[in-house]
Amino acid sequence: MKTSRFLTLVVSLAILAAPGRALLKVVASTSDLAEFARAVGGDRVTVDYIVRGDQNPHLVEVKPSYMMKLKAADLFLEIGMQLEIWAPQIIDGSRNARLQVIDCSRDIHKMEVPTAKVDASQGDVHPFGNPHYWLDPENVRVILDEIADSFGERDPADAAYFRANADRYWTSLARSIANWRQLMAPYRGRKLVTYHSSFSYFAHRFGLEVAGYVEPKPGIAPTPSHVVALEQQMRQDRIGVVGVEQYYEESTPNAIADAVGARVIRLCTSVGGREGLETYTDMMDANVRALAGAFAAQQ
Ligand SMILES: [Zn+2]
Repeated sequence: MKTSRFLTLVVSLAILAAPGRALLKVVASTSDLAEFARAVGGDRVTVDYIVRGDQNPHLVEVKPSYMMKLKAADLFLEIGMQLEIWAPQIIDGSRNARLQVIDCSRDIHKMEVPTAKVDASQGDVHPFGNPHYWLDPENVRVILDEIADSFGERDPADAAYFRANADRYWTSLARSIANWRQLMAPYRGRKLVTYHSSFSYFAHRFGLEVAGYVEPKPGIAPTPSHVVALEQQMRQDRIGVVGVEQYYEESTPNAIADAVGARVIRLCTSVGGREGLETYTDMMDANVRALAGAFAAQQ
């Protein structure tokens, strides 16, 4: 009895909060897109997501629970460029004919787009270019616009509200970006190595150069011959920093760093990827500070 009265109360309150209008049900592929969707949607949307911040978004094992999430959704937000190579399977499995898929990469200026056809059988997970564009904080403006537009199309009565929320989030992020630019400014032109090519857009924004990768190709595990060549290059170019994304093993990067006298730092690519990094700003701030600290120690 008590439970049913409580539920009645909750339902009545929900109706009062949004009279006559159902909340837009949004599922995002990643925790980062979920944060942006929550910021834009405010109290007019519900937001869920698929990939946890500590998971490699390229390698997601499809589960029935993901299909259930999409079954009830109006919109599915994805990074696109085939980051979510697993998405078609859960979209089909959801059997939700009214689900609308929003590709947030549509207006992104894309990097590392192959000029020749990539043979996917080689295991390359970036066949349409580098999909890690959300790690350039300036690209968040483009993503927020895409989200505000798509929410506004589904719910025109709230279009101005979504637009205002996107602007407010951006204003706050822009202040952080100015701060990050200042912190990174002394290290323009510095080189580093990362495990996977996750930081191309980030490096481009802050004037760094990712000169090599622990992986021989995106999505391919390191081989002994590749490691030897990478160590040679690091010695030659005096590269002293190896950045390792949260979901990769540390033993290969540690061995490389030991061999060439470099330093390994942990980088984070998604909200919630490490404890304490619960927002996009937290995560970017941690990356900027880890890199600035490592470059400063090299001098
Ligand atoms: Zn990738």
